[in-house]
Amino acid sequence: MADGFQVVIAGGGVAALEAVLAIRALEESPTPIELLSPSRDFRLQALSVAEPFGGDARTLDLAGFCADHDVVYRPDGVAEVWGGPQRVLTDRGDEIFYDALLMATGARRASVLPGSHPFRGAADVGWFGDLLERLRRGAISEVAFAVPRQVKWTLPIWELAMLTATWLAEAGGGERKITVVTHEPAPMEVLGEAVSSRVAELLAERGVELEAGVGVVRFDQGRLVCERGKEFRADEVVALPGLSVPEIPGVPQGRYGFIGCDAEMRVDGLDRVWVAGDSTWFPIKQGGLAAQQAEVAAAGILRAAGADIEPPPLRPVLRGALITGGQPQFIRAEIGADSDAVLTTSPLWWPPIKVAGPRLGPYLAAHWSLEREEEDPGLEQTEDLEPAADEREHEAALRLALDFAEIDARDGDYVEALRWLEVAERLNVTLPAEYVQRRDDWRAAVAH
Ligand SMILES: Cc1cc2nc3c(=O)[nH]c(=O)nc-3n(C[C@H](O)[C@H](O)[C@H](O)COP(=O)(O)OP(=O)(O)OC[C@H]3O[C@@H](n4cnc5c(N)ncnc54)[C@H](O)[C@@H]3O)c2cc1C
Repeated sequence: MADGFQVVIAGGGVAALEAVLAIRALEESPTPIELLSPSRDFRLQALSVAEPFGGDARTLDLAGFCADHDVVYRPDGVAEVWGGPQRVLTDRGDEIFYDALLMATGARRASVLPGSHPFRGAADVGWFGDLLERLRRGAISEVAFAVPRQVKWTLPIWELAMLTATWLAEAGGGERKITVVTHEPAPMEVLGEAVSSRVAELLAERGVELEAGVGVVRFDQGRLVCERGKEFRADEVVALPGLSVPEIPGVPQGRYGFIGCDAEMRVDGLDRVWVAGDSTWFPIKQGGLAAQQAEVAAAGILRAAGADIEPPPLRPVLRGALITGGQPQFIRAEIGADSDAVLTTSPLWWPPIKVAGPRLGPYLAAHWSLEREEEDPGLEQTEDLEPAADEREHEAALRLALDFAEIDARDGDYVEALRWLEVAERLNVTLPAEYVQRRDDWRAAVAH
């Protein structure tokens, strides 16, 4: 391996930490790594939905993590990337040289439904707790949870609605109306009929009303205004936020600021720069996927450093855990042509931590001393998972991309639909024949 090959990682979230763990596990000799993050703590955002209901905030001190992994930690951010001289300029004005740079800076979450409150994670825990208290006291009685059309990965809204209803029943609140309004024809439609109907059952068991197939427009004076003249009364509306990436001079950015890359996570148009996580062009923003991307990027970086390693192409698989207020439900997207995703109350991977990072999951479980229960030999061991596991996973990822394309085209969003076809193609496959024709039709629709 090249002596002193300098790796710089920008970010202190899921993708950055997974990349550190992957580099340390796969390297042939010690690789100098410097990690820059303006936030001093890592926080598992996926668990923030449980915090207003008494769940613990799960955090990790970045300086400590870096010290444990022989990484230089710099509490600073990347302000610009200078590809030619291979340097980043930091927010504090320092210049840092890199042989390889991993951009893992995440995305910004902001409201896209005027008048509503976005739930963006940790930043909204306090506000959401106040809303619960007002509901319990009866100061308000009708709350709607809304999914704007831009948002395709809807898991947190189902969690928030179910947790709210369960909490109210336990806290002894009187008659309250909790409704979820989503553009999807059924909850988490893209994961298939089995998941949708189970989530609908869980909602019904908790008395949560469901308005599916409804596009939301704005919340105004107690009315949630929707497409096609529909309206719902509500005292408050909590919505999922839209994502975008702030401008980073020197980095080519596309729609909403997302960063383009190839299937090995190399940034389009920049040498020696990789990207992973929410800031990538990949349309589903999910921690498990961020970690899988980081694994691929880490392998590519080590190969660039001279290691004898072949980065696996990205073949993403969705693994999600749905917090319901009762038993959690574990989801693994195995969408083949005729099969749905798997959804079960038994963990489908180990440790059953909310973000299924191949290395970060086990690391966090050990760090937070989560109990290791009797092990089921049928469980996937995430620490042993290869990002490119097998052909079935490849097929499942492709099916998922095509399903999302269909959904966007049905909603008239041909630009996004074409993006999904790009996802399918980047999965290293040729498009199924019928989609070649559809791509032409959708391109024509965009051109008009
Ligand atoms: C409410 C909620 C629920 C969720 N539920 C789930 C779930 O159930 N399962 C799941 O898998 N995922 C879930 N997610 C998504 C998951 O949290 C994200 O997909 C994941 O955190 C993305 O990882 P990342 O490393 O790309 O970004 P992040 O984890 O957001 O980390 C970005 C890091 O970059 C740093 N940074 C920002 N700008 C700069 C800069 N200029 N220079 C250097 N560093 C910078 C930030 O400080 C931060 O440390 C949820 C998210 C939210 C908000």
